[in-house]
Amino acid sequence: MELTLLDKKQETKNVWSFYFTPPPPVLWTAGQFMVYQLPHEKQDVRGKMRFFTISSAPFENQIVITTKIDAKSGSSFKKALLELKKGETIQAKGPDGNFVIDSLKSNYVFIAGGIGITPFRSILAQMNHESKTAPPSKPLATHGNNQESKITLIYSNKDEDVVFKDELDEISKSLPGLKIKYLTGERIDRNTIKENVPDYQNCIFYISGPNSMVDSMMELLKELGVLEKDIRQDYFHGYDN
Ligand SMILES: Cc1cc2nc3c(=O)[nH]c(=O)nc-3n(C[C@H](O)[C@H](O)[C@H](O)COP(=O)(O)OP(=O)(O)OC[C@H]3O[C@@H](n4cnc5c(N)ncnc54)[C@H](O)[C@@H]3O)c2cc1C
Repeated sequence: MELTLLDKKQETKNVWSFYFTPPPPVLWTAGQFMVYQLPHEKQDVRGKMRFFTISSAPFENQIVITTKIDAKSGSSFKKALLELKKGETIQAKGPDGNFVIDSLKSNYVFIAGGIGITPFRSILAQMNHESKTAPPSKPLATHGNNQESKITLIYSNKDEDVVFKDELDEISKSLPGLKIKYLTGERIDRNTIKENVPDYQNCIFYISGPNSMVDSMMELLKELGVLEKDIRQDYFHGYDN
């Protein structure tokens, strides 16, 4: 499908969101990705194709890509994306992917490394919207109430430039079962999990971020005795050279 650029927004020092109008109808589930083609001049070895999560939520009716762009050492694809003008188009295929919440049937721990926040932004914005319009089958409850589903988001960043922070803070005010733990310049370790999610053995884990981060979280969770069937991963290839 052809997506037309509506707008772009600088989220932080080196992270941008690109807003596209899709040709209707595009149906997707929060957390899914699309595959994009952007032919451009002086293409480097990484080529013209990329995967990006749809960081917008389905109710928002726009396809949004949120990505890190290093203006100096970044790929030719990212530079071409940044140079795209309003009204210009990009080709996309999908949506696809199973990094989604089918129904709220458990307690969840979302672990995001940097730009790995994109699927969680989509999932939480959609949940927040639905909790106001149509109550989910199993409502979210406040932390401390074990009757209903809870979500803990552990969001780790290298510095204070945290993508979607204001928005996530707003969502956490109106989505009662959501607790957010921000980490800056610290590694997520056994204590982070135990302190923030005391009942971690009864949770389903979703991990999203660069490959090396997802792999190290997998190791950590396995050491803590979390079963593989209770862990889902979203690998953001291309950030570990
Ligand atoms: C399912 C899925 C969902 C994803 N969702 C997202 C998302 O929502 N947001 C997101 O940002 N990414 C996402 N990714 C990752 C995305 O597809 C890119 O791989 C990633 O953004 C890196 O982009 P890039 O290759 O353009 O490199 P850049 O981001 O430009 O650079 C990353 C690093 O690679 C180095 N580099 C760049 N070009 C080259 C080159 N030619 N040779 C050697 N080194 C180079 C840079 O110096 C930098 O250190 C997703 C991936 C998957 C599989």
